[in-house]
Amino acid sequence: MVGQDYKKGESEAGLDYGWRFQGKPVLLPEDRSAIVDGSSHLMQMALTEMSKEYFSVERCLQCGMCTEACPNTMLNTNSRFSPRKFIQELRLGLIDFSGEDLWFCTNCGSCVSVCPYEIPFIDVMKDLRNLVIEQGAGYLPQSLKSAISSCRRYQNPWMEDPNKRADWSKTLNILTLKKDNTDGVLLFVGCLPSYDERGKKIAKAATLLLDKAGINFDFLGEKEVCCGDGILRSGDYRTFEKLKKINTESFEKRGIKKVYTISPHCFDVMKNHYFEKNEDKFLVAPFILLLYEMLTEGRLKINKPINKIVTFHDPCFLSKHNHIVSEPREILKSLPGIELREMEHHSVKSICCGGGGGGIWLDRKKGERLTEIRLEETLSTKADILVTACPLCLSMLEDTVKNDNRFEPIEVMDICELVLEGI
Ligand code: SF4
Ligand code: SF4
Repeated sequence: MVGQDYKKGESEAGLDYGWRFQGKPVLLPEDRSAIVDGSSHLMQMALTEMSKEYFSVERCLQCGMCTEACPNTMLNTNSRFSPRKFIQELRLGLIDFSGEDLWFCTNCGSCVSVCPYEIPFIDVMKDLRNLVIEQGAGYLPQSLKSAISSCRRYQNPWMEDPNKRADWSKTLNILTLKKDNTDGVLLFVGCLPSYDERGKKIAKAATLLLDKAGINFDFLGEKEVCCGDGILRSGDYRTFEKLKKINTESFEKRGIKKVYTISPHCFDVMKNHYFEKNEDKFLVAPFILLLYEMLTEGRLKINKPINKIVTFHDPCFLSKHNHIVSEPREILKSLPGIELREMEHHSVKSICCGGGGGGIWLDRKKGERLTEIRLEETLSTKADILVTACPLCLSMLEDTVKNDNRFEPIEVMDICELVLEGI
């Protein structure tokens, strides 16, 4: 009941869980069903979910293991973000929607993976962000605002022309793309590999690998739209639902059975949010697993030695969220001439690049970027190449390499590009 007079402890008016909306308490009835005057159905749903989350947040022991694991606490800045502190403030109703705290979390999953009480921190964050995005309850960074309005208007976050989404594929002279007999296999390209000049190289490498392995596959071309991962994690539920509908309708129309995504973000959002639980209409997997299969089954033959030292940056949405850590390493070790060295933080303990949870759309100042910590660890391995398997990680890391001459000796590559070099 937003806007009603409120006295602490006035139980007939509802319970105060500490949520504040435009400065006023949001009181929820004891049965936890949220009724907010003049609010949309979606808002009511979000509040109901939030009141449930609140009960889980209440279990927090304040042990601080989440903060220990959070990459933000490794940054040497004044505005250090701490999930433990955030939860405490949330319980006390002290969350400041007008501050930046809501946007520091990159959804890397480190806190959730170590929390002894399984507090769903990322989901709580998503619902709080939803209040800002859909109800205007607080501060929304300008760059994030632009990405969101672009997704609403152009179905991609960079104001790119939807009709040019498949232009990257036009120069490819390959045999297997969009043959009639695709066995229902789809390559979901994603926004960054479709539009970004550097990202396009990953899309081309993945496509050429499929071609060399003789796998017939389909792709949606101009009909593909943003998967909606960053949009959902930024709290724009309505736009996410629209994007999801467009993609899933295209899958059904084209008889798609297996979706392989270049980006682990597209994979994660499709796996967890595109289909109802237990609905196994489509198999969704990250491209790296198909690449692993193509190599282990002998469909791809590596015959050119690549004499380099490499280290692998685990994307959070492969490692911490989905426990895919051994396959990329197996692939790298199978390449002739490659020496794999691990960074101090690797596999499920890897440090986030900062691009998840909408982070790729935020401008972080020098000294406040998680990539700087990651690249310092790369330097200490003396690796020639920093390999990753996510277009967002690649973009974030390479951007910092270009803008900071300390990291000049490091080459950043996607694993598809490296494998292609060996063929
Ligand atoms: S790790 Fe879990 S229980 Fe411990 S402070 Fe963080 S959220 Fe609370
Ligand atoms: S998801 Fe990652 S960035 Fe967000 S609070 Fe947890 S550890 Fe920190």
